[in-house]
Amino acid sequence: MSKRYLVIGAGFSGCVLANQLVTQSDCTIDIWDERDHIGGNCHTKRDAETNVMVHQYGPHIFNTGKKEIWDYVNSFVEFKPYVHRVKAVWKNAIYPLPVNLHTINQFFNKTFTPAEATDFLAKLADKTITDPQNFEEQALHFIGKELYEAFFYGYTKKQWGCEPTQLPASIINRIPVRFNYDDNYHNNQFTGIPVDGYTAVMEEMIRHTAITVTLSKKFDAAMDLSEYDHIFYSGPIDAFFNFQYGRLGYRTVTFEKAYATGDYQGTVQINYCEEEVPYTRITEHKHFTPWEQHEKTVYFKEYSKETSENDVPFYPKRLDVDKKLLKQYRDAAEKQQHISFLGRLATYRYMDMHHVIDEAIQLAKKVIENTVKNTPIPVFSNVEVF
Ligand code: UDP
Repeated sequence: MSKRYLVIGAGFSGCVLANQLVTQSDCTIDIWDERDHIGGNCHTKRDAETNVMVHQYGPHIFNTGKKEIWDYVNSFVEFKPYVHRVKAVWKNAIYPLPVNLHTINQFFNKTFTPAEATDFLAKLADKTITDPQNFEEQALHFIGKELYEAFFYGYTKKQWGCEPTQLPASIINRIPVRFNYDDNYHNNQFTGIPVDGYTAVMEEMIRHTAITVTLSKKFDAAMDLSEYDHIFYSGPIDAFFNFQYGRLGYRTVTFEKAYATGDYQGTVQINYCEEEVPYTRITEHKHFTPWEQHEKTVYFKEYSKETSENDVPFYPKRLDVDKKLLKQYRDAAEKQQHISFLGRLATYRYMDMHHVIDEAIQLAKKVIENTVKNTPIPVFSNVEVF
């Protein structure tokens, strides 16, 4: 018998899940999104004044280590090869990020070989920290005080609004440290940018007669949803429960847009690592698509702040206090019927696009298998260890 599914949220989680379910099982799907566009925080749109493809909610660079995920996204639209290279400003000088041999040599005014730089940093690293418990300890343990204070301490305080000692070590593990001149920001083998932007990828994923998308439609758990066999929710988990235990901590970002002629900063992203500079980074989006020609340019100064009621949540903070709250919400979710929670906001994790896509594919597989076996569909797309 054909199933009726409701998917809340038309970001990558919702679109991938809907795509997989509709192409591999007998179902019809409604997708609702409270915004007036699909794409979630990966939404892209051409800027009216410059025609540059703008990542409306900040820079997104597709990268994955998994060939099957790369092939999957490439099956919808064309991606062009793109390597993300970032610069950092610190005390009136420009350095390449992630920290690599060039950064180390320039910062310490040396001409180290890879082996010499490795030995040098090993001596600077704080070896009294044997089992790093937080962002700061992890940084000090691996790169030492000097590089940490220059490139990570101020930026992280601005970005997260707290001391790096309060943040999980996993956040700094996102960024590699290299003892060669490779300045690719990502370690993953497959990396690129979709030529028509990310929204076009998601449009293709959900282009199907059995999928109906309704925009500007806000979900409320109190609605009568009895016509659906199952609901897949990718909004914030605390919002689902009407914040009954309190609000999970998120950082949000705001953008100051400006225009220039030609090339404004000469590269896609410059990070401002000093605490005194009020913004974290400037991104100039025309550099994401070097195969395009644009006379004018648009760039964005990015500011980070705590999320309040009407802000878009971007970055889950996952402080200890948040994890306690998350446990309460997950316990409450486990008691629900016919609902699953997936994606960055519903599982409250700092996930990249490829993580989200991978997990939605896995969840869809389980949905299909469990439906055939007539066993319950998992409530969460992930297992959380508290
Ligand atoms: N980070 C930093 N300095 C930098 C870039 C990043 O301290 O110049 C830290 C910061 O805490 C940030 C985290 O590393 O939140 C992850 O950086 P990434 O560039 O992956 O952040 P995203 O692009 O997701 O905002």
